[in-house]
Formats: sequence, structure tokens, C-alpha cells
Amino acid sequence: MDKTIDEAIELFRSQKIPVFEPGEEEYERSVATPNLLFRFSRPHLVIQPETASHVQAIIKQARAQKLKITIKCGGHSYAGHSTAYKGILLDLKKMNTVMLDIKSKTVTMDAGCTWGHVYKKLVNGRHNGFIINGGRCPFVGVSGFILGGGLSPFTRSFGMGCDTLEEATVVTADGELVTVKDNDDPNSKEGKLFWALRGAGGGNFGVLVKMKLKVQQLQNKDGVVVAGRYQWFPNSGITNDLMSTMNNFYTTVTNDFMTTMNNFYTTDWPNQMTIDSTWMCDPQQKEGDGVRFLVYYDGNKDEFDTLIDKYIKQPELAKQLKRRSLPEKSTRFLHETLVAQWSEETTKAFPTNKTYNIYSSFVFNNDKISIEKVTAIIREEMKTFRRLYRGEKVQFLVTWIHSGGKAREKKPSDTAFFWREAVYHTYVTVDWEDKWMERDMRGFLKNVKKKLRPFSLKREAAFINFADGELSKKAHERAYFGNNRKELRRIKEIWDKDNFFKWTQGIQLPQGIDDDGELDVDVPDKEDMTDTIAEEQWEYFKTDDFVKDLKEFVDNVDKFVKEHPLLERFFKGKKNYIKELAQKAADLKNDPSTPLGSKDLLPKTIKVTLRQQVIYCDDSSSMKRDGRWDSQKRLVDRIAKITTRILPEGQGVALRFINQDVDNNSNLTLAEIRNILEPMSYMPGGNTEIGTYLRSKILEPLVYSKLESKSLERPLLISVITDGMPEGEKSSEFVDAILECGNKLEGAKYPRESVKFMVGQIGTGKAAAKFLETIRNDTKIAESVYCTSDQLDAKFEEFHKNEGDLDRWLVETLYWPIKDSEDKEDHESDGDDKDD
Ligand SMILES: Cc1cc2nc3c(=O)[nH]c(=O)nc-3n(C[C@H](O)[C@H](O)[C@H](O)COP(=O)(O)OP(=O)(O)OC[C@H]3O[C@@H](n4cnc5c(N)ncnc54)[C@H](O)[C@@H]3O)c2cc1C
Repeated sequence: MDKTIDEAIELFRSQKIPVFEPGEEEYERSVATPNLLFRFSRPHLVIQPETASHVQAIIKQARAQKLKITIKCGGHSYAGHSTAYKGILLDLKKMNTVMLDIKSKTVTMDAGCTWGHVYKKLVNGRHNGFIINGGRCPFVGVSGFILGGGLSPFTRSFGMGCDTLEEATVVTADGELVTVKDNDDPNSKEGKLFWALRGAGGGNFGVLVKMKLKVQQLQNKDGVVVAGRYQWFPNSGITNDLMSTMNNFYTTVTNDFMTTMNNFYTTDWPNQMTIDSTWMCDPQQKEGDGVRFLVYYDGNKDEFDTLIDKYIKQPELAKQLKRRSLPEKSTRFLHETLVAQWSEETTKAFPTNKTYNIYSSFVFNNDKISIEKVTAIIREEMKTFRRLYRGEKVQFLVTWIHSGGKAREKKPSDTAFFWREAVYHTYVTVDWEDKWMERDMRGFLKNVKKKLRPFSLKREAAFINFADGELSKKAHERAYFGNNRKELRRIKEIWDKDNFFKWTQGIQLPQGIDDDGELDVDVPDKEDMTDTIAEEQWEYFKTDDFVKDLKEFVDNVDKFVKEHPLLERFFKGKKNYIKELAQKAADLKNDPSTPLGSKDLLPKTIKVTLRQQVIYCDDSSSMKRDGRWDSQKRLVDRIAKITTRILPEGQGVALRFINQDVDNNSNLTLAEIRNILEPMSYMPGGNTEIGTYLRSKILEPLVYSKLESKSLERPLLISVITDGMPEGEKSSEFVDAILECGNKLEGAKYPRESVKFMVGQIGTGKAAAKFLETIRNDTKIAESVYCTSDQLDAKFEEFHKNEGDLDRWLVETLYWPIKDSEDKEDHESDGDDKDD
């Protein structure tokens, strides 16, 4: 994956498409989410295209490389549908141009806009009396909202947001740019796509990049709307049974509340009136439970007051609704009321205000029987919630978004948005601050869902814009799209036959899984979902990205790679490799069991590890003497242990023997090395043809062939361990092989120091000491070889009791050969050490 991502980054950057990686500020902003359930969501990349052609290039590349794409506009999905934890997050925020044409009453906007961007055009132009059928919250994205149908504060006057869509431009799964319009032939594939874009939710058919909406004219001639907000905490509370049974007075009050709410919901309000309401249960709220009303009225204040008096018989509520609702110019309404009214929801959606949130939604008609049952259930559940979670930082909210009116005039099959009958789209929110409450909260919501679902349209309707991430895979299409779901699958096949835009609650292909499952109960016990999302995301989560100083650390590793031409040559563009290595190195910093991560040693550990490690061992018969064979095993084990500590996933060490052949994988893990070593013995009668096999077992396969195929990915450090002198070959064979290697590297335009050698002696053999002496004094290879004067096994024993010292000595030893080439300054200042 890293390689693919690196390639993608390089390509996007070459096309000047903004790409951000973990640790970069823009990345962090893009992935920030207020819902702690998604706290470990860290995609590989964030891309912020600026134009439709950027989006085309991204989709083509992602498709070619099979990279997962998650599209994000305003990021307000209740179920985290724009939250990515792998692949690419395609954040459209930079595509935010809006063009308002008040003459033709249309607004054209880029698909990364939020409603705030769009409303600003009306506000700044002082276009009073005009409204765009968008969201209540200025931070909601235009794309997710319209694609999901869109319930505006004036839906009852003008229909769903998607009913006012005139034109949409989409980048399809093939990377093509297609514009579809309301006057396309409904039987053409364009006409079908246009139909589907109105209510099937985001992320199904392509990336929406632009759309044109009708601008609506309010009926009030002065361009005034009446808007208000009132939080009603009835004197005796709304769930206070104790009092209600104590005496008749309180019983009357409680009943008064329920009667008022039931009348309120079953009233057929005129289309100009929209009143949303939220039942609020916060066990920490001393006032008890209450209901918040948000009012939007397309008309003047007198008409509004008359309607309130006519339909609301509870005196206190009627009085306050009238007092708290004010007439204001529509531009002022857009500028401040929407923002102020939605302050709690909006504030909750700010990434800095983190809580755990789960949601579910229902679609209700307003017939008396259902409404009375639904309100009774909510009231009972609030009572239970308050009793069970007394004093906890938890909330249970039920929000009724007022629909109906003009939205009901279309047939369910006129657009993908199916639930035309709806009068209320009601969503339940459960939130909490303490993660240990998750099981309780999920269990509670599960129970509420079970009770309310039978009263939802067709006993299962849900609204995709108030998505419930827990709806079963075998039923979510039914819940969101009712009888439109089969047509949606057919359209999916036309526009995305390979299901490139695939996600958990996406529209399937016609041959996808059956959609005949239970809605809420397909998982045996939803309480068992506790922490599942976090668990899944943790798999992909890289802690480095949250370590505050890591960015600096990565930058430093990156910087020192850049400062060393050799490393730069091999690691340029492999930022993820460097980052993974740096992350592991950062972890090492906190490991008290080894000094490898200490301030002075860490740079050396990193430099050693940046090289492909090859350990070349002696298994000649002389290794049987003085416990040399076992010493060598322990030494190899330790070298492998320290050099694999910070290697990125999939990287490892190559192990070769003069006489015997073992697994020739060059990326062996420590465990694999141990498996090889454990049963192995020296080779009775084995020779020391050390130069011959250096060439055939190491240089040819790991260097020369890679030079030919131009695939030498890392510089090499070859550690040669021997106890003797060459036998069975020319005495100069070993030196010749090293010289040859340097020449071949230069021939292929690589510096000689791309392959370095550390040669060390094991045992006390005089012949070996002599051989090493010759090598040490051979000026022809001095540039590439460091021949330690340490007797490796003796040193190993010396340090054995103190593993920290052992690691330090080993890293220093391995570091010597590469020191000259990669850190001249170090070399100069530390020069004296070399005599050790
Ligand atoms: C505070 C608040 C207030 C809200 N008010 C309302 C309201 O008044 N009425 C209403 O109907 N809903 C409302 N919602 C719900 C909201 O409309 C949906 O959550 C909607 O999907 C959010 O759109 P977004 O672009 O912000 O979301 P995102 O999370 O960015 O996207 C939502 C989905 O659409 C996909 N998507 C985003 N952009 C594109 C694109 N350009 N092309 C293709 N797919 C894309 C994403 O991948 C994701 O699946 C509200 C939500 C919140 C949090």
C-alpha cells in the first residue's frame, strides 16, 4: 500500500493537486471529527482538489491503483459516512465558488460549498424575499444535503432541497465529467442519473462537482420571515410520574404536556409554517426534561401569532412562542437566525467539541394513533434514561424535523427520495462523554429503536440524511429508499458497474446482497457492538500521527535524508517509508530497555536501519572450535534484533552462509532468522570460500541483478563474520569481489558507498587476524570496508551482562562503515573513536 500511496502522491503533486499527509495541518483539519467514535480515523492521504479536472485525475488514478476513496463535503454525516480510516479522503472544501443569478433565479455552486457560502450571496446582495432551499445549519455541506434529499426550513413551502435541483455535474467512476439536467429524458441514462441524485445519498454514482438550484421567492412581499426559538420546561417536568400520581393537579399538568404535544404534532399546519421540536433529556439538567421549539414562518408576525393562538392551547407555550419569535428580513434571518437557532447542533458539530454520538431516524406521519404512541414511548424512555443515568454526562434527544407540505406533492417514485408521505423526519440522538458508557448507551438506543420502529412509515423508514450507521446491510436500502431501491441498483449498474464507489451503506449492484433482512436486529445483541468501530479503526491507526512532536521528528528524519545525497537518492519520494521508520524510532525513544532510542544513539540506529542489512556468516568446520558457532548465532540474533526494531512493515534482514544455503528471502523477520539458526550447525569439512560466495550469494542477486533491473531500493550494509582466512579460492577473491562491486555500482551511476561492508572476526585464530589485517590495510577498498579490530565474540561476552551496552556497541560497530559517507561532520568530530 505504501508504495502505491507514494506513487499516487507523486503523481498528484506533479499535477499540482493539493495532497496532505498525516501530521500536516491541512490533513489534521480535514480529518478532525467531533464524534469520538471515529477518533482513530486516519486515512493515508487527504486530497483537496480545486477543480473538476483535479477530481477527474484523482478518480482515474485511484481507480487504476485500486485506492479507496471517501468523499467529504461539509462532513456533517451523522453516521460518519465521510469519515475515512484508510485510503484517500477526497475533501472538496477548496471547491467553494458560488454564482448567484438573481434574474434567472438560479444559484450555481461548487460541490464543496457549505450552506453558509451559498446564503452569503443572498445576504451580501441584500436579496430580501429570496431563499435557497438549503440546510438549517450553515456548516452543513451542500452536496450531502441535496444528494440525500434535503429538508430545508422551507421544505413545507418549496419541497425537498433536491426538488429545486436543476442541473448537476458529476465525475463518474470512469473519471468522465457528466452534466445531467431536470429536462433530460427520464428514460435516458442521464435522466436516470438525475433522478437518482435527488435523494439516494452521497458517494454512490460519482463525485458531484457542481450543481444548479432554483432560488425561491418567499410569499411575504416585504421579504420578512418570522423565526424564533423557545425551550419549554413545563413546571412539573415532562416525565415526573411521582408527582402525577400524588395528586390531581400534577396529573393534570403532565397530561397537559402530553395533550399539548400530541395536538401540536397532529395539527395540519399551513405550508408556510415549519416548527421543529427537540425533546431533551439531560440527567444533569436540574430543570428536568424539556422541549425546544424552532420556528420558521414564511409570512408576517400577525399571521404567525394568529396561527399559534389557533392551534396551541397551552397558554404558557403559546405565549412564549409568540414572544420569542420575531419578524426579520430574510437576509438577516439567513445571516444570524439560522446560525443562532442551530447553535447547539452546530456547536456540537465543531471538531473541538468532542463527544460520543449515535443516531437513528424514523419517518412519521401525523395520524393521531401513531403520534400518541410515539410520544408516550419517548416520554417513558426519557423517564428511564433519567433514572438509569442520574448525574452522568449523557444526553437523550429526540428531534422532530417538520416536513410535509409541498414535499408531499410529488409521488415517491418522482425522485430517489421516497418518503414523500412524511410529516416528521425524527432522529434520536444519544451522546455521552465517558467512553465506558458506550455499552449502556448503545443498549439504550437499541431499545428505543425497537419500540419506535413499528410507527415509522412501512414500519421501517429512515432518512438517509439522518443516517443510522447501525442499520443492517441487508435492509438499509429498504429503510432509506423504500420501493425505489431496485431502480437505484439498476442505475448504479449503468454508472458504476464495477462498484468503485462502494461503502457500507452504499447502493449495491442489482446482483448485490439480498435486501430482505431485518432492519435493526440482524446482529444478535447490538450492545456487543461496543467499541467495534474504534477496534476496526485501530487496526489502521498509526499512533505517530497523534504524537505531538512526531511531525518534528519525521521532518528531522526527512531532513537528514535530504541532507545526505546517498540517502536522498534512495529515499526521495518514499515519505511513507521514512515516516514509518521514524514512527518506530520515536517509539524506541520511549523504550527504557535499550539505549537504541537515546538522543546520541538514535540517529545512528536510524542510519544503520535505512540500509538493507545482510549478515554473511562463516559455517566452515573451524567454527566448531571454542564455542564460535554458538557465539556467532547469538551475535546474528542480536544484530537482527536491533536492526529490525525500527524497520517498516515487510522489511527485514538477509542471512547467508558461506557453505550452506538457507532461505534466501532478503527480508527475514527476527522470528524467521531464529527459526533458521536454531536447528543449524556448521558444515563439517566446510571451506572458507568467502570471496566466491560473497559474489554468488550476495552481490549477484542482491546488487548486480538489481542494478540491471534498476530496482536497487536501499543501500546495503553487509556484515561479514569469519573465523579464518580464505580457503579453496584465490587469496584476493574477497577483495576482488568488493572492488568489482564498487566498479559495477559506478558503472550503473551509483556511488560506491551504496554498498558497505563491516568485517569482524570471531574466535582467536591467527590466520583470521592476519586476513583481516590485510583487508584493513588494503587502500583500494578502504572506502567501502570497515574492518573492526574487536574480536566479536569476546566483546559480545563482555557486554552480555548489560544488554544496553551490548546494543550500543553493536550499533556503533555497524555504524562505522557507513559513517564516512553519510555523516562527514560526525566523522570529523568523532574521528578519535576509530582507534578503539
Ligand atoms: C448540525 C446539523 C444540521 C443538519 N441540518 C439538516 C437539515 O436541516 N436538513 C437535512 O436534510 N439534513 C440536515 N443535516 C443532515 C445533513 O444534511 C446530512 O448529514 C448531509 O449528508 C450532510 O452533508 P455534508 O456534505 O455536510 O456531509 P458529508 O459528511 O461530507 O457527506 C455526506 C455523505 O455524502 C457523500 N458526499 C459528500 N459530498 C459528496 C459529493 N460531492 N459527491 C458525492 N458524494 C458526496 C459523503 O461521502 C457521505 O457519504 C444536519 C446535520 C447536522 C450535523
